[in-house]
Amino acid sequence: MPLKNEYLLRIYDTVVQKNIGELEFHQAVLEFLESLEPVLEKEPELAKTGVIDRMIEPERLVQFRVSWIDDAGVVQVNRAYRVQFNSAIGPYKGGFRFHPSVNASILKFLAFEQVYKNSLTGLPMGGGKGGADFDPKGKSENEIMRFCQALMVELSRHIGADVDVPAGDIGVGAREVGYMFGQYKKIKNEFTGVFTGKGLSYGGSLARKEATGYGLIYFTQEALKNIKNTDLNGKRVLVSGSGNVATYAVEKAQTYGAKVLSVSDSSGYIHDPNGINLEVLKQIKEVERARISEYAKRVPGSQYFEGCKGVWSIPCDIALPCATQNELDLDSAQLLIQNGVTMVAEGANMPSTPEAVHALMEAGVLFAPAKAANAGGVSVSVMEMSQNAIKLMLSDKHMDERLKEIMEHMHQDIFDTCEEYDLGYDLITGANITAFERVADTMIRLGTY
Ligand code: NDP
Repeated sequence: MPLKNEYLLRIYDTVVQKNIGELEFHQAVLEFLESLEPVLEKEPELAKTGVIDRMIEPERLVQFRVSWIDDAGVVQVNRAYRVQFNSAIGPYKGGFRFHPSVNASILKFLAFEQVYKNSLTGLPMGGGKGGADFDPKGKSENEIMRFCQALMVELSRHIGADVDVPAGDIGVGAREVGYMFGQYKKIKNEFTGVFTGKGLSYGGSLARKEATGYGLIYFTQEALKNIKNTDLNGKRVLVSGSGNVATYAVEKAQTYGAKVLSVSDSSGYIHDPNGINLEVLKQIKEVERARISEYAKRVPGSQYFEGCKGVWSIPCDIALPCATQNELDLDSAQLLIQNGVTMVAEGANMPSTPEAVHALMEAGVLFAPAKAANAGGVSVSVMEMSQNAIKLMLSDKHMDERLKEIMEHMHQDIFDTCEEYDLGYDLITGANITAFERVADTMIRLGTY
């Protein structure tokens, strides 16, 4: 939908002009600005504060070289970044991604979304994101370690327990966090909670690994109950991806009685009409770090198909895209609609294209945006930061209960905003406005800086 408000339109034009060719960043900002039309209508004087002009410019973007030596003794050079987007409501917080596609546009979109996701949790965190165009696939254990150590030599200058606390994301799990944390500790000679997603023996929290996937399911369950008067029990669910978010979304959905029919990776997808076998999935992805095609060789009745997009052609009630940005396009959305999907909840960041979102909303599909639906990981990360600060270990039960409470509370806040602005069940606009109000109000109170 084209922007109607002149102030918002001018801001968007500035973003496009200043960030040439950064399409993912433009996409994330545009979706956000569209949601602010009703706010500007109600409070036109907001334009005078310049708060939105400030919000679309990152506070800081660091780009740096990472040179390291591979197993053959050859020097390799990668490019890494940390985007520190907004620290109005707390220290920068957001994941670190290792993937060949990483560039400034992708990290700016992720950092921008992170600001508002963190705001929605109600917890004191600003937003940031980082990454490197390093491909962990096919690298040896030693190469991964050397890369992480080389990266931290530079990154350590820009982060800190009260400054900026990274976590995992695509290609960065507990193994990589361990190597980066170890190097930080060595460089700084201090043991502080500078990373979240750490191993349990050195300050990590229980339930962090599960948090994003579990949180996605808690939010989905809450929205189904409140808005559709139903729940996950007996529903046919599609999950894309087979990494951290996907695996624990499968696990929690199954405990709520759903039948999860699929998982995927960037090469293809699995259709298992009997429901995904979680034990086999974890063995293949977490233990062996193998491709998802292995699953069909081990589980009778399941099938592997080349090409990850085909996953959306399987008839289902609920779709949970949990792999990467823009993985669910208009064609996929139309297939889902034809097959009777009733809800889409985003586990990955911005996995649905704007055209797909529009088609799903037009068709009356309940749509839970990533900013809210996948905020469980960062919520538990804050608890990990808290337990590091007080030098204690919080219990698994405490973490999980608090996570559920945060996701339910977030759903209620968004729902209340939808009512206040007469948005029906437009959870995208409701989430963006809820998140915006907290950050904008704080920025105005803190003065122009
Ligand atoms: P993982 O690296 O654990 O898993 C990523 C999964 O997505 C893998 O199955 C991977 O397949 C697949 N994938 C990656 N790139 C592509 C692509 N271009 N096309 C198709 N499939 C792809 O990452 P996470 O599970 O941690 O993250 C998944 C998403 O969730 C991301 O968008 C991330 O930003 C978001 N997220 C993650 C959080 C967390 O706590 N981990 C928190 C909030 C959001 P392959 O192995 O073939 O690459």
